[in-house]
Amino acid sequence: MYVVQIASEAAPVAKVGGLADVIMGLSAELTRKGHDVVTLIPKYNCLTGTFQIQEILPHFSSYFQGSLHDNSSWQAAINKDFTLTFLDSHHSKRFFQRGAIYGFPDDIDRFLYFSRACLDYLSQSSRTPDIIHIHDWQMGALALLLQEENFKKRFPKTRVILTIHNMEYQGRSAESHLDEIGYTGERKEIRHADTKDINLLKAGILFSDAVTTVSPTYAKEVLTEEGAKGLLDVMLKSKDKFSGILNGLDVNYWNPETDPLIPYHYSAANCESKEKNKWQLYSELGMQRRDDMPLLVSITRLVPQKGVELIRHALERSLELGLQFILLGSAPDPRIQDEFLELSHTYASHPTVRILLQNDEALAHKLFAASDLFIIPSIFEPCGLTQMIAMRYGSVPIVRKTGGLADTVFDVELSGRPFHETNGFTFDAPTKAGIDSALTRAFLLWKTNQKSWQELMTQGMKTDCSWNKPSEKYVELYKSFSI
Ligand code: ADP
Repeated sequence: MYVVQIASEAAPVAKVGGLADVIMGLSAELTRKGHDVVTLIPKYNCLTGTFQIQEILPHFSSYFQGSLHDNSSWQAAINKDFTLTFLDSHHSKRFFQRGAIYGFPDDIDRFLYFSRACLDYLSQSSRTPDIIHIHDWQMGALALLLQEENFKKRFPKTRVILTIHNMEYQGRSAESHLDEIGYTGERKEIRHADTKDINLLKAGILFSDAVTTVSPTYAKEVLTEEGAKGLLDVMLKSKDKFSGILNGLDVNYWNPETDPLIPYHYSAANCESKEKNKWQLYSELGMQRRDDMPLLVSITRLVPQKGVELIRHALERSLELGLQFILLGSAPDPRIQDEFLELSHTYASHPTVRILLQNDEALAHKLFAASDLFIIPSIFEPCGLTQMIAMRYGSVPIVRKTGGLADTVFDVELSGRPFHETNGFTFDAPTKAGIDSALTRAFLLWKTNQKSWQELMTQGMKTDCSWNKPSEKYVELYKSFSI
């Protein structure tokens, strides 16, 4: 099939969170399975990493605010299974030359521009996609634009799939923004609640041929008042075309046997070198080497969804119990940033704790490899990738049982599964008591029964988190539309 993936992020070059990992992993797996995949993202001026990029189309026009604007397209082979196509906008507002992916007052305009530019780009090609797979609110307008006569004529058989990676972010904007991209159709249905604003995620949900989210449990949660974040009506209305498909991991990229970003390689069969990663990290960070203390790590965007207060509590509890603790976090909200900055100063030269406030892909890899335990106390979690990465790197996850965390982490005692089918620790309520119980159980197992701990760790490493099965589910969905 000819599948076009369109998103605002793609790992490893334009990454803010899990969306980026998904775009890379799913695109690569579909390519490996023999599909023809084109993956489109904006050509930001803050792309990271080293790769060769080459212009493939020096000029194409796209419509915005009543006139045509010049763009170009570029391509880079990120690895043997993953090629990215970048659309560069030459608009005077320099939509993608801002030094960051999100966080600007005109983010709505930026992604509306990109949505329209993608369709104008695909329109001028001689080929027609079978599937356009769009992701999150940023691309919602694309489904809407495909209702326009000119695009309907150009893409009569193309079907659109929307994947919702997080229901919390919806892209609300004034209705007039739709004029900018030349949308002439009905607007009433896509209004946000009782306001005059429109909601781009809602537009995507209503006008896509199928809608998915990133885990089966989250798919159930978003059909409830609390999980739907104000979109329950539209979710219920779209129930028949909605499903949950669990995310996978790009297991070639996240591989402790070959990962170029970690100092010592290891595998489930040969784990001895894992520990050396910890000692090296401690020496780099100036922390004490304590053989009697396990290392607990958290790597996260510090936003309310992730249970920031609970992460703070995990630090305090670690100090009481006797675990070493490292947080690698990035906080877009200045209040949260300030709170954790203070904490980072408090522990700046502590022998067993570090609070590192930055977004650092290479350091994240080292932390996955170095850690014994990994904590994710999310209030809600659509899928969550860090628990899967942690497992693959032999770090045992401690998670709140919600969304995709509930679909991937099975508690040693509470899951009701035999020990050999478990891989971590879970707790139900997003409370300090919840963390305490799971963290204490994990710590005691590490301390008193290393044999079982090693087994648990290996079970996690052997869990199949790859895109192999999830990608088949997407292909099944794509094929269900074949005309
Ligand atoms: P979300 O998409 O909600 O942020 P996920 O668990 O799905 O959460 O994905 C998070 C991804 O971002 C993982 O690859 C994780 O390693 C990475 N990540 C999160 N915070 C940081 C950080 N501060 N530095 C480096 N990588 C980070």
